[in-house]
Amino acid sequence: MTSLARETQRSGQLGSSSPENERYSRQILFRGIGEEGQRKLAAARVAIVGCGATGSALAGLLARAGVGTLRIIDRDYVEPSNLQRQSLFDEGDAAESLPKAIAAARKIAAFNSQVVVEPKVDDLVPGNIESLLEGTLLILDGTDNFETRYLINDYAVDRSLPWIYSAAVGSYAVTLNIVPGQTACLACIFPDSPRGMVETCETSGILNSAVNLVASVTATEALKLVVGGPSAPELRRTLLSFDVWTNEHAEISAAQPRPGCRVCGEHGFIHLAGEGRPHITLCGRNSVQIHERCRPIDFAELDRRLQPHGRVRHNDFVLKFWRDPYEMTLFPDGRAIIKGTTDTAVARSLYARFVGN
Ligand SMILES: [Zn+2]
Repeated sequence: MTSLARETQRSGQLGSSSPENERYSRQILFRGIGEEGQRKLAAARVAIVGCGATGSALAGLLARAGVGTLRIIDRDYVEPSNLQRQSLFDEGDAAESLPKAIAAARKIAAFNSQVVVEPKVDDLVPGNIESLLEGTLLILDGTDNFETRYLINDYAVDRSLPWIYSAAVGSYAVTLNIVPGQTACLACIFPDSPRGMVETCETSGILNSAVNLVASVTATEALKLVVGGPSAPELRRTLLSFDVWTNEHAEISAAQPRPGCRVCGEHGFIHLAGEGRPHITLCGRNSVQIHERCRPIDFAELDRRLQPHGRVRHNDFVLKFWRDPYEMTLFPDGRAIIKGTTDTAVARSLYARFVGN
């Protein structure tokens, strides 16, 4: 066989001299990845829950690295205040109020059309977690709240699926790899929502560099998990925190589960069971989310009906209705985000009045 034939055969297997392999050539050269690792990345399906700042950065890094399928789950739409740190979105997305999962899929298609993105415009809750996360190898946390993180933790421990907790607020970033059966789980470290983390991006602000730091560390751990499996020796087995402003950093060992942990020790999955979970919730930035009515909405018809009552606009993905001082964003499945109030009763009555019960 001539060297050219060998080369052709090799490229047939992996495409190492194809334009696509040219794309990953610098990553394949890195000895931790190699050709075998690149093939594993291409075959992997990874879920990213939440596509705000951290989720955007994670999705961008993993799509460029060649993770074959990304399932991006997000309940929200793009706004101008997101653009300072949410690297997958632009001014056009904000002007259109595009759902973040849809905008992310479009952006990724423009720089790596080989990656399959499965956008899910939905709020991850106990009732849909099974269908939203089914078939994924690894779950990454791009959420902004502990309720959803505890839900992911219950699901991951129950299914023995690895997941990576990541959070950033202000100048502070923190991350933890969770490999059920090996390491500590989220509830081992934080049996209850940690007090320091009740700060949110709305109250404390956020530096985009803190986001990118935690996303870089997390994306690298994700590569190790996909390429080397959950027992890969290079995986970090600590809770890592870093403040990019003060330069304080710390690592706490998370190599062992905590004896008696409610979740990974006793298999008490209260978040997965959805006990006492409200259907109407505050979701930051002076907003209330209503997700108790799951029924399809005809945007064109509702648009006509709302015309006399305020400003209204819709596209295929969202309908927006402005009625001073409130702004309601409706999704096709009937879920709504009502901005301008933190009073759930006000939000509920607005919804009942204009959308219906
Ligand atoms: Zn645990």
